[in-house]
Amino acid sequence: MRASEFLISTKKESPADAEIVSHKLMLRAGMIRKLASGLYTWLPMGLIVLRKLEAIIRQEMNKLGAQEVLMPIMQPSNLWEESGRWGRYGPELLRIQDRHERSFCLGPTHEEVITDLMRSEIHSYKQLPLIFYQIQTKFRDEIRPRFGVMRSREFIMKDAYSFHESEENLNQTYQLIHKAYTNILKKIGLDFRAVIADTGSIGGNGSHEFHVLAESGEDSIAFSNESDFAANVEMTEAVTLNQRNDMQEQKLEEIKTEGLCSVDEISEYLDVDKSNVIKTLIVLGNPKKISNNHKSKKDHVPLVALALRGDHEINIIKAEKISVVMSPLTFASKDIIKAQLGCDIGSLGPLELDIPLIVDRSANQSTNFICGANKNGFHLTGVNWRRDCNISKVEDIRNVIQGDLSPDGKGVLDIKRGIEVGHIFQLGTKYSESMSCMALSKEGAQQPIFMGCYGIGVSRIVAAAIEQNNDENGIKWPAELAPFQIALIPINIHKSEKVRNYCEKIYKQLTSNGFDVLFMDREKTRLGGMLADIELIGLPHRLVLGEKGVDRDVIEYRGRDSSSNQDIPLAELNQFLTKKLNH
Ligand code: ATP
Ligand code: MG
Repeated sequence: MRASEFLISTKKESPADAEIVSHKLMLRAGMIRKLASGLYTWLPMGLIVLRKLEAIIRQEMNKLGAQEVLMPIMQPSNLWEESGRWGRYGPELLRIQDRHERSFCLGPTHEEVITDLMRSEIHSYKQLPLIFYQIQTKFRDEIRPRFGVMRSREFIMKDAYSFHESEENLNQTYQLIHKAYTNILKKIGLDFRAVIADTGSIGGNGSHEFHVLAESGEDSIAFSNESDFAANVEMTEAVTLNQRNDMQEQKLEEIKTEGLCSVDEISEYLDVDKSNVIKTLIVLGNPKKISNNHKSKKDHVPLVALALRGDHEINIIKAEKISVVMSPLTFASKDIIKAQLGCDIGSLGPLELDIPLIVDRSANQSTNFICGANKNGFHLTGVNWRRDCNISKVEDIRNVIQGDLSPDGKGVLDIKRGIEVGHIFQLGTKYSESMSCMALSKEGAQQPIFMGCYGIGVSRIVAAAIEQNNDENGIKWPAELAPFQIALIPINIHKSEKVRNYCEKIYKQLTSNGFDVLFMDREKTRLGGMLADIELIGLPHRLVLGEKGVDRDVIEYRGRDSSSNQDIPLAELNQFLTKKLNH
């Protein structure tokens, strides 16, 4: 490609709202431009990368025997009503009406559409298994679009759906797709982990997420230092050893703590470890599940108290699974707490509450702890669960932390940030039952088809690849994704006929040998500017040629990873690059 015929639109600065490095570099390197919140145009430089990634994904999917389809972005509401998701999906689902006032949505995912298609195409188990995929635009009205294409409202996903006569067969395909996703991420050289995941609103049994490890990741993932256990922190069980506790119970005492509210303030004031301070969180309760003796007074909102150690954080997914807790987990407002429990949030404690009290498993092992006195300006010391509190249930409701025991009993947990780039689910018969997608079984009965669904975020992977591959000068593309492999940079092309002719010759020779070259043939572009642009754009290899080089018959080579140049005799250039690029 000639730079004179290609939009290279680099910038020195990125806008203030670009928080993470990939977002900044994608804007600065001229890969994307913002249209509105969460909506981006892919410029030619970015689109080449996106298409290269799509090709890698297509290749892996086709290898599995998956067939490509393309479904509409606009989907009729009646299918979503059939699956039960029209009401459940929430405001991320963008609902629209056509000119006849019929309801539609912009597809955030395509389970409904593919199930509708398959119920008229599949009649018998003999047609199964089948795998379909598409690479297509999705729309989700994200509450907080951010980080550029990492969390945008419109984005490209490869979504796949599989159909089976049995659960075992679904499981086999699930493993194959797990392998295909592993191959895709390995091929582009990313450091990633496949982790056990929550099935969220889609439901079903088996599920894994693929996370690219990066500090800017929005998820925390936990892995064992001794085994291959890896799971989203949301999903990782906090293991507590049953310790024998011979500690003598202290006397319960009330102390004045005027103006001190947080765990940090209390532990500092009393000079005790945060683990010995118990914090009490008040959440809304599930009115259908709160038993009679805990039913609050008539006009009271049902509440539930969750007690954790001061050094631990609540795990929302675990807490939501407790029947008396309302899902989604909702913290009670400070006004409700004041009105019903009589104190401010910073003075709450687990004693003498007339609402269900759920104690975290690790917190349950604390003795002689400190907590709020349910009275503003006071805390209690020397508190003990069994003597002083009325526990309804002990449950695992906290996030695991670094150094916790691994749930598989091997080693301890390490915790890192991850960017979720892929998610695979075994849906079972969730959609085929609600939408009546049936096939004749071997035994001659109509049975719901087993389904799996598999998503990989194409645009998000481009950003995640940059998060893992950059330096202070710009992007450092993995070879498989680089928009071009080689930059050919002439010095003073507008002044020297000799340089122009020579570079033209090299460009033709390299491209005809199949190299992917960006020829910086623009008139009057300063060498320094061109070199900076090529580093920012992140091309893996660059060649620089000036009059001196032409006279000496050598061209200057530098890899993006290196800080020194190498003179290559022009006659050997082809051979040198073939070796360098593993061509
Ligand atoms: P997240 O937790 O990040 O919101 P999700 O669980 O909603 O992701 P899935 O429904 O599993 O995502 O979608 C499959 C893949 O699509 C994700 O793994 C991710 O790579 C990509 N994806 C999801 N939401 C977005 C978004 N708003 N912008 C870009 N990519 C996205
Ligand atoms: Mg989401």
